[in-house]
Amino acid sequence: ESMFKLGFLSDVYQEKPLSDTLTKIRTRFPPEPNGYLHIGHSKAIAINFGFAKYHGGECILRFDDTNPAGEEERYYNAIRDIVTWLGFKPVRETCASDNFDQLYELAIDLIKRDGAYVCHCTQADVKAQRGEGAGGVRGGERFACSHRSRPIEESLAEFQAMRDGKYKAGEAALRMKQDITNPNPQMWDLFAWRIPEGEEKQHYRTAGSWVMYPTYDFTHCLCDSIEGITHSLCTTEFELSRVSYEWLCDKLEVYRPMQREYGRLNLTGTVLSKRKIIKLVKEGHVRDWDDPRLYTLIALRRRGIPPGAILTFVNSLGVTKSGSNVQIAKFEQTVRQFLETTVPRLMVVTEPLKVIIDDLPDDHEEFVEVPFGKDAAAFGTHKIPFTKTVYIERSDFREVDSPDYFRLAPGPLPHHSDSFREDPTTGVVTCVHAKYEKPEEGAAPKKPKSFIHWVADSPANNSPVRAEIRATNPLFKSDDPNSHPDGFLADINPDSEQIFPDAMIETGFHEISRSAPWPKEAAEEGDISQNQHSIRFQGMRVAYFAVDRETTPDKLILNRIVTLKDTQGK
Ligand code: ATP
Ligand code: MG
Ligand code: MG
Repeated sequence: ESMFKLGFLSDVYQEKPLSDTLTKIRTRFPPEPNGYLHIGHSKAIAINFGFAKYHGGECILRFDDTNPAGEEERYYNAIRDIVTWLGFKPVRETCASDNFDQLYELAIDLIKRDGAYVCHCTQADVKAQRGEGAGGVRGGERFACSHRSRPIEESLAEFQAMRDGKYKAGEAALRMKQDITNPNPQMWDLFAWRIPEGEEKQHYRTAGSWVMYPTYDFTHCLCDSIEGITHSLCTTEFELSRVSYEWLCDKLEVYRPMQREYGRLNLTGTVLSKRKIIKLVKEGHVRDWDDPRLYTLIALRRRGIPPGAILTFVNSLGVTKSGSNVQIAKFEQTVRQFLETTVPRLMVVTEPLKVIIDDLPDDHEEFVEVPFGKDAAAFGTHKIPFTKTVYIERSDFREVDSPDYFRLAPGPLPHHSDSFREDPTTGVVTCVHAKYEKPEEGAAPKKPKSFIHWVADSPANNSPVRAEIRATNPLFKSDDPNSHPDGFLADINPDSEQIFPDAMIETGFHEISRSAPWPKEAAEEGDISQNQHSIRFQGMRVAYFAVDRETTPDKLILNRIVTLKDTQGK
């Protein structure tokens, strides 16, 4: 039923029977609205939505917004938008900040249960308590904080004082009363509520109401509990947190969801960290957060990669405990295979060279019927003009012929080219004269040794369609930009974007852009990306292309989605 392979997670379901009050499997995807999602997140999205769907349950989109510093409205919107673009419908949207009042009450309850205390230690004090000596040396002796034994009434009063703004950052915080002797660092009296550093900006959603905020460790499990999440699926770096997750739910005697962990997805040959992408954008190495050379989901969308291809890729990796480091080449191969059967084909000339067919009359114009794809039945056909002047790919012509060359070159037939003209100063070929080998009446055309693509010069039929092509190459030279001795920026590929300003497309483009997303039957479920993002096609013998969002009525811009073959696989 579900397309998603859940791997070891399919068994997890068995461990958690539903109850009278919880009659449905419920998961959540919990991004922090402090940046754009990247390809790694698509795995988390697919797992949480896939698991719920597989079991007839539901998935919530929860914004984990407890750190006002980096959180912004545009990220809430972008995350919601991209989840929808991927084809998923959250049963509802929630925010951790919706629960601040309730989390505050739970904190008071926790103090009353002797499970939390207000602490006034400095960061250095806390480190020392956790056995971390000066210089960050770990493994020293651990000892309890002196505030942990203060009376409950005192902590209640101090917690109120925190809320009332009587303390500045670092002067007071609420800590959980766990077990400093436990070998798991997640039990070392974690922070539950803290006052943010300095002049931290106001929370986008609760601005003005709070001067202190709950921590991830306090918030995540309790929001899961409040929302009736049955399975809290997260990445393996939270494995140790499972203990504190369960400790807090149990201490408060609230419903305890089941946390289970899966491995992260990481792509090699790129960077996914927000801090690094910000640097790339700020220093102008890329156009923006959605630059087609990046692996944020908005970048993949802009580049023209269909959501179905991303999901196919994530699914092909399976769900395992260990993280996966996957090469970009593998991702591109999945995209290529996906596009091969789902997008129409057109003739696109990236670097045009004019060819004049001498034996055709000046006003010659005929229409040739050609299929939009390999499979004419599925994709349909269209008519393109054929005229005395056509444009071919510069690389399909050679000034000097050789016997093993079957494209265009000077010489006797079947090479079809009579002469060519060069720019006298640059020596660049500007025009080629050729002959059209028209078959005798009634005779079958000779089978050519080779085919090349071309675009007619027929202004009356709006041909060619002119475009700028942006060919995206890997942004980094190595597979591991992060380990470059001079920093990841030193690994940037100087040829990561190649521009073809004078590209030409045949008239079939008018038809596919009128009917985009195209073909209708193949439009993936949930592909709501606005018109231009859905216009994708194969330029035969060249590459897959999509219309870029910077396109204007005066200028068509195409992104190269992927090449036809893996030419840059390292
Ligand atoms: P990053 O630092 O890369 O932005 P994050 O964990 O801070 O990652 P969140 O916004 O907290 O990002 O992520 C939301 C959810 O997506 C979390 O459950 C997280 O575990 C999951 N997630 C994040 N990165 C990956 C990844 N590379 N592979 C799989 N899941 C991921
Ligand atoms: Mg994040
Ligand atoms: Mg996070």
